[in-house]
Amino acid sequence: MKRQPNLIKSLTNTEKLAKTVRKLGAGLKRLSGREKDQHQAPLTVIPRDQHSISRRNISDNALKVLYRLNNAGYQALLVGGGVRDTLLGLNPKDFDVATDATPEQVNSLFRNSRLIGRRFKLVHVVFGREIIEVATFRAPPTDDNSPKEAATGDQGMILRDNVYGNKDEDAMRRDFSINALYYDIADFSVHAYAGGWDDLQNRRLRLIGDPETRYREDPVRMLRAIRFAAKLDFNIEAHTAEPIPLMAPLLEQIPSARLFEEVLKLFLHGQALDTLRLLREYGLFAYLFPATEQCLKEDPLALAMAENTMRNTDVRIRAGKSVTPYFFLASLLWAPLVRTAQEFEARGMAPHPALQKAADRVLSQQTKSTAIPKRFSIPMREIWEMQLRLSRVRSRKTQELLTHPRFRAAYDFVLLREQSGEQLDGIGAFWTRLQEENPDLVQSRPLREDGDSDGPKRRRPARNRSRRPRSR
Ligand code: ATP
Ligand code: MG
Repeated sequence: MKRQPNLIKSLTNTEKLAKTVRKLGAGLKRLSGREKDQHQAPLTVIPRDQHSISRRNISDNALKVLYRLNNAGYQALLVGGGVRDTLLGLNPKDFDVATDATPEQVNSLFRNSRLIGRRFKLVHVVFGREIIEVATFRAPPTDDNSPKEAATGDQGMILRDNVYGNKDEDAMRRDFSINALYYDIADFSVHAYAGGWDDLQNRRLRLIGDPETRYREDPVRMLRAIRFAAKLDFNIEAHTAEPIPLMAPLLEQIPSARLFEEVLKLFLHGQALDTLRLLREYGLFAYLFPATEQCLKEDPLALAMAENTMRNTDVRIRAGKSVTPYFFLASLLWAPLVRTAQEFEARGMAPHPALQKAADRVLSQQTKSTAIPKRFSIPMREIWEMQLRLSRVRSRKTQELLTHPRFRAAYDFVLLREQSGEQLDGIGAFWTRLQEENPDLVQSRPLREDGDSDGPKRRRPARNRSRRPRSR
């Protein structure tokens, strides 16, 4: 009898426990419901008469793609930079389209299209030089996805992202709230997610979701944050900014070819100087150009050269002139090159072989962070080697150097070095005079085939083109 109450007690305890478990289960269900909600950012719809995008701002080819998808019964919206930049009154670099059609369905709708990408499958619809990128709405990956559709690395990096979803889910997969703005071709409204509309008005760059998770999924987003902040002159919101210096080392996991593509985008949008400063401030530059960062920290001449390079690049781009990436890469790596060449010379090597050996070393080390393709590294070496030749020769018999295909770039490089404080004994002025005396000998620049940016191009008069030397 004495035991009875205990038994009852323990029975009641078991019931209680079961009840608690049931409650917990319900709680968990609610929680996962809430988690799911987190994947659904609040949506603001801005009707056509309350925003500044009109079809006149959109390229004809992008409109063609939007209309054909829409007429075939799919959703079709402009997204990303095309919407963001137009709303800011800027000229978008390109137009990206989002749709509920699968890449294969898009591909079958456009004869002029090709499927690209594995990590992130897309369709490129090609109209001559213009490419319209069409992406199918992405959903957040779940445990049920096969590794073929979605895969995440040990440290949370997204290796594949091919799980399709709806527009709301797609918005959550995008990086910044100002990049989750959609322009709907069906009714010309703008759909803004996750506070993107307010952020745009307040010039604020904010990652969607938890910043650390988002950077871990794709560390390149840290570089994109700097690029957009500099290009658009936006503030990086505190939570988005805070983890960057700590997480910067994650960039080491990114294939060097992808980092190189990002480097071109970082420095060729017209705000390279701000970009360089921000990249250094956030500790990212050291992962793109480790040897250069070392020199910039220690040597004011190197810093002046890097900043002048960026300043000059910005001036050219804003004036609608072309920029040759090999020129700014040659100048970013100049300080490490000189330093290494001096080490070889100190060991008794003559200047020319020392420079060549230093170029080998600097380029091969650089390639570990950002892979510089040969079409850039070859002219970079030429510019470097020409520095020795231009500084040595002082007689007027050296006129033939003026006809060298890389003369103009090498001469500009001399001026840049002088502008940055190197004492070169007036060789810039010497070569300026020699060119003025022999205007017919000087080759026109720059050589478009040798890695011009895909930024604005300067048209060369046709008569020059026939004389243009082919260097490859
Ligand atoms: P711009 O074309 O001017 O460089 P953008 O914002 O259009 O800027 P894109 O690289 O063309 O940038 O990408 C188009 C859109 O795709 C972005 O606006 C963003 O919504 C999404 N996106 C691109 N890269 C990422 C990424 N790494 N993580 C998440 N979303 C991304
Ligand atoms: Mg774009």
